[in-house]
Amino acid sequence: MDFLKRAWAEVDLDSIEYNLKEYRRLIGEKTEIMCVVKASCYGHFDNGVVPFLENEMDIRWFAVSNIHEAHRLRDMGIKGEILILGYTPPENAKWLTRLDIIQACTELSYAKALSENADGKVRIHAAIDTGMTRIGLHGETDKIYGELKEISKLENIALEGIFTHYAVADSLREQDEKYTKAQTEKILAVADKCEAEGLHLDKVHFLNSAGGVYYYNERSSLARLGIILYGLYPDPAKALPFEPKPAMEFKAAVAQVKYIDNGTDVSYGRTYTANGKVKLATVTAGYADGYPRALSNKGYVLINGKKCPITGRICMDQFMCDVTEVEDVKAGDEAVLIGSQGDERITADDIGKMTGTIGYEIVCGISARVPRIIS
Ligand code: PLP
Repeated sequence: MDFLKRAWAEVDLDSIEYNLKEYRRLIGEKTEIMCVVKASCYGHFDNGVVPFLENEMDIRWFAVSNIHEAHRLRDMGIKGEILILGYTPPENAKWLTRLDIIQACTELSYAKALSENADGKVRIHAAIDTGMTRIGLHGETDKIYGELKEISKLENIALEGIFTHYAVADSLREQDEKYTKAQTEKILAVADKCEAEGLHLDKVHFLNSAGGVYYYNERSSLARLGIILYGLYPDPAKALPFEPKPAMEFKAAVAQVKYIDNGTDVSYGRTYTANGKVKLATVTAGYADGYPRALSNKGYVLINGKKCPITGRICMDQFMCDVTEVEDVKAGDEAVLIGSQGDERITADDIGKMTGTIGYEIVCGISARVPRIIS
């Protein structure tokens, strides 16, 4: 495996297991967990993680964003239920039935188009837009119910569930709490109306990671667990009842170590100039690996257990850092971009904060050329 070790990611299934079990303990048994494995498990590598979830963690529900991801799961032998949360062109309806995939339905006209293009019953969960204003049936409860009724009568459609997505479940601000509660009430009003009218739904679901923690409601038959599964926080500023374990470490190698003189410029654009004699290490990862260029002159990496500030601009495949304080550093040493070394730790959430984004984007952005080593 050592030939992989230029820039690589180590994914720890024990951490995923820990996060899953803690989350399950928290929400209890009434709500089944649907693992959100889109974007190749938020960058953690679907082929390494999903079979583990199905075969060893007994997960029966998975959510992906598109038909390519769903197809990949079937290709790797996943037997569980797969829900596509995003749009699938209606021309691909036959693939939904052939692969036995459940499709999120955005609106009545889409259900009709799926039905017309299908050569069997397409299983759907209808998205209900309760406040995210992204996809879904919207408007008053009676109007939504009327559309669901019509959808349920379409020849090639099997309406099996409804779901909604929270916009601010990670926020505990008073106005956001109200908003989230209103979203819950709205989906439940639709569910109640369907039940009262005899329109059976197998599943009604609305909890994401944060929803399950802060707004648990046993009427959500599934909790769509994403970010916490991978050990990150929905909002790093807010504590969770348990500390999730980050499942991925991102590492690279030291390629060269040298002293530079006072006044020496480093990297493109000469945005860093040595102030005194500096010991400099060149590290073998860059923005083409998904290490954000926005960390230029801002971030740090860990080498020999010490924080080493990034000096100058991050290049496509390499960057430099100040290792003046690090003893015995040499070419071939390991640099931790995300993860722990000695007593120090840097998380994807930390990098998100430094670069004005969120941990989600950092882990999803670790590029495909970075091999994932699963253990
Ligand atoms: N459900 C839907 C519809 C989503 O789009 C996502 C993530 O983007 C999730 C659930 C999982 O959210 P989280 O990762 O915050 O748990």
